[in-house]
Amino acid sequence: MFEINHVSARYNMLTSFVNAVDDVNFNIEKNEIFGIAGESGCGKSTLLKVMYDLVDYPLEISSGSVRLYNGNSETNYIETGKLKECWWKDISYISQGAMNVMNPITKVENQFFDTVRRGYHKKMTKKQIREKVAAYMKELELSPDVLKAYPHQLSGGMRQRVLIALATFLNPRIILADEPTTALDVVVQKDILTMLMSVQKRMKNSMVIVSHDMGVHYQVTDRIGIMYAGQMIEIGPTDEIFSHPKHPYTQMLISALPKVGDNSQKEGIPGTPPNLKSPPIGCRFAPRCKYAADECRKIRPQMVPVGDKHFAACLLLEHAKGGNE
Ligand code: SF4
Repeated sequence: MFEINHVSARYNMLTSFVNAVDDVNFNIEKNEIFGIAGESGCGKSTLLKVMYDLVDYPLEISSGSVRLYNGNSETNYIETGKLKECWWKDISYISQGAMNVMNPITKVENQFFDTVRRGYHKKMTKKQIREKVAAYMKELELSPDVLKAYPHQLSGGMRQRVLIALATFLNPRIILADEPTTALDVVVQKDILTMLMSVQKRMKNSMVIVSHDMGVHYQVTDRIGIMYAGQMIEIGPTDEIFSHPKHPYTQMLISALPKVGDNSQKEGIPGTPPNLKSPPIGCRFAPRCKYAADECRKIRPQMVPVGDKHFAACLLLEHAKGGNE
C-alpha cells in the first residue's frame, strides 16, 4: 500500500552535498508495523521525512519517489509532491520531540481543531469536533483535562501521548513515527509503545517506526529494515532478523545487545560510519567489516533473497547465491 521507489535524498550545503539516503527501495504492507533501525546519522529520519513529503531546503530528493496507493488499484495512488494534500487524513507523522510539533501558545484542544481542519473535515462544527475529541481521548484512556492544557503544562510522556492521539485522530492509513520514545524514561517508553501498538491493532492501519533502539523494534515491529550510511542493507521479518541476521553489520548490531543472564562483555562495532559527503565506493561498510575483501571496496552489493521475505546486501551473500558467479 505504500511504496518507496529507489529514493535518494541529499542535503544541499551549497558547496557540497550530504548524500543522506541512497537508492532505498522497499514496500510497506497493509496492517503491518515496519521498523527502520540503524546508528545515529544513517539516514533513518531523513528517509522518514521523504516518506512524509516533508522535503524543504536544504533537503532535496535527487531521485525516486514515494507512492501511497488507494485500495488495490495499481494506478490509483498519491505520489511525492502531492502527499501533503492527504496529511493527517491518510498519512500522519509523529516527529521527534512533541514540543517541536505542538504550538506552545495554543491549548491542546485547539491543536485538534487545526488537525481536523487540515484533514479536510471542514463541515464539522466546533461542538461536533469537541465531542468527537472527548470520545477519542476516553478511548485512549487520556484525561479530558489534558485538552484544556498548554503543551508546556504537560509532562514529556503526556505530550507524546497527545501527539499520538493527534496523529491517529482521523484514522490515517499510515502513521510514521520518528524515535517516538527518545528522551523518555523506560516506564513511560513502555506505555507509549503499548499505546502505539493498541491503536494500530484497533485501527488496522500501517505504521513505520524509526528508532536506533533495537529493543523497541523487537517489542513492536513485524518487519525491520536496517540502514547503514544512507543505504538499506537488510530487510526481513523481525524474528528472522533477530534470530538469523545475515548482513555482517546487522550481526554486529544484534550481538552487541545485552541479554538476560549473559554477563559477558559486549563488543561495540569498531570504527565510525563514513562521511556521507564522500562515502566509500563499493560496500559502505567495508572499512568496518571483518570479512571485507578487495572487491568489497569496488562493487556495491545488491539486495539478494536470504530467506522468506528476507533480503540482505552483501557480496558474500551474493556469491553464496551464485549471483556474481
Ligand atoms: Fe563486508 Fe564485503 Fe559484505 Fe560489505 S560486501 S558487508 S565489506 S563482506
